[in-house]
Amino acid sequence: MHTKTLTELARDLKARKLSSEELTRSYLTRIERFNPQLNAFITVLQEEALAAARAADARIKCADANALTGLPLAHKDIFCTAGVKTSCGSKMLDNFVSPYDATVVERFRQAGMVLLGKTNMDEFAMGSSNETSFYGPVKNPWDPTRVPGGSSGGSAAAVAARLAPAATGTDTGGSIRQPAALTGLTGIKPTYGRVSRYGMIAFASSLDQAGVITYTAEDAALLLGAMAGFDPRDSTSVDRPVPDYTAELERPLKGLRIGLPKEFFDPGLDGRVGAAVHAALTIYKKLGAEVRDISLPNFWLSVPTYYVVAPAECSSNLSRFDGVRFGHRCESPVDLLDLYTRSRGEGFGAEVKRRIMTGTYVLSAGYYDAYYLKAQKTRTLIRQDFITAFENVDVIMGPSTPTPAFGLGEKTGDPITMYLNDIYANGVNLAGLPGISIPMGFVDKLPVGLQIIGNYFDETRLLSAAHQYQRETDWHRQIPRGFE
Ligand code: GLN
Repeated sequence: MHTKTLTELARDLKARKLSSEELTRSYLTRIERFNPQLNAFITVLQEEALAAARAADARIKCADANALTGLPLAHKDIFCTAGVKTSCGSKMLDNFVSPYDATVVERFRQAGMVLLGKTNMDEFAMGSSNETSFYGPVKNPWDPTRVPGGSSGGSAAAVAARLAPAATGTDTGGSIRQPAALTGLTGIKPTYGRVSRYGMIAFASSLDQAGVITYTAEDAALLLGAMAGFDPRDSTSVDRPVPDYTAELERPLKGLRIGLPKEFFDPGLDGRVGAAVHAALTIYKKLGAEVRDISLPNFWLSVPTYYVVAPAECSSNLSRFDGVRFGHRCESPVDLLDLYTRSRGEGFGAEVKRRIMTGTYVLSAGYYDAYYLKAQKTRTLIRQDFITAFENVDVIMGPSTPTPAFGLGEKTGDPITMYLNDIYANGVNLAGLPGISIPMGFVDKLPVGLQIIGNYFDETRLLSAAHQYQRETDWHRQIPRGFE
């Protein structure tokens, strides 16, 4: 049953071919067997999951179920989960048990989904390889000597190895799309404001957005429909109706105008990844789409802009971890300053400290204008490029990452090279647009992803374009060796 998609499992549950308890047990057994080699989970909720599965089975029996009732999933450990450790991949929150549920967690819980556990992640979602986690790196199921991508690397590894049929993630600068691409999965980052950020531990508030990592666009549509929507507890969530994403999947692609930005095909792109994008475009043309060359002239500014804006916001957001209210507190502080500095010094890892220092610097009185204010202006230019492009095209396509998964330890010594792995992702967050990554082939036996970027709130079009490509291909059906 673990080789089925979430949609297929939903059908089996509904037809009572399978109980949620059986399904949950089978995933828990796989987690027990495979997690030690992958390190995809920080917390496994054995008892809680079985209890939730039994409750779901009872709901299904008395016809009180919806499309999601009884389906298992995993949450990235950035989502506050009532009564459960919520670490955000950090020693700082290693002792933190959340007193409440994030809206995303609450919505899936109310739908009757079964939470298998909390997945590993880069510390406070800062990273592209899952190597900054306090709980150690996650291994890529396609090749355990390689990274699964980050920061939602635990979610991606868990789904790719079939330890969970779907998982949540968050994407501040690529952290859903990049790990999905490097593990052969579908990952969607919705429009900023589409999904509530309430209870999602903040990294960079103007960029963070929750989404899902699944096998197919059809599965993503099913989950997004339940998680999206206005939340009065998040002032940045948008009050706008949520379309029926599943019902729109078959919307014809005839006449779809695809923009291909010339800047995406730069010397940093592995030629074989570029060739895979062109092969995918051939399929879209067959489906009736037309491809237009476009330009995003300020695209080259997206990584430098992101690495001013994101650290600035993180330095402010992470000031709440002071050793006083919650999280790690140092032993026997001599005074308040000692309490702050040692608690933070001990609780945060090296990458988080680097970001806090960069962020504090760019916001400081002498440098604010030169860095932070300038980055706000270049952010506007980047956003404007996308808006102009969408006057002539319906979607933009390109690679999700410049290369397939790289080796563990390969980029940890050089933060700039690490940051560049998200070169095709960062601009989308700066503009607040939706993006999806779908499997489009293999390079060196490792999966690579096609990125589809949409206009604001046009998730419907992204999902239908992805779904129809997946009907023509079987990349999304491939399972890493040893996990079949
Ligand atoms: N890799 C990027 C960073 O380290 C993006 C992280 C994310 O999207 N959470 O900031």
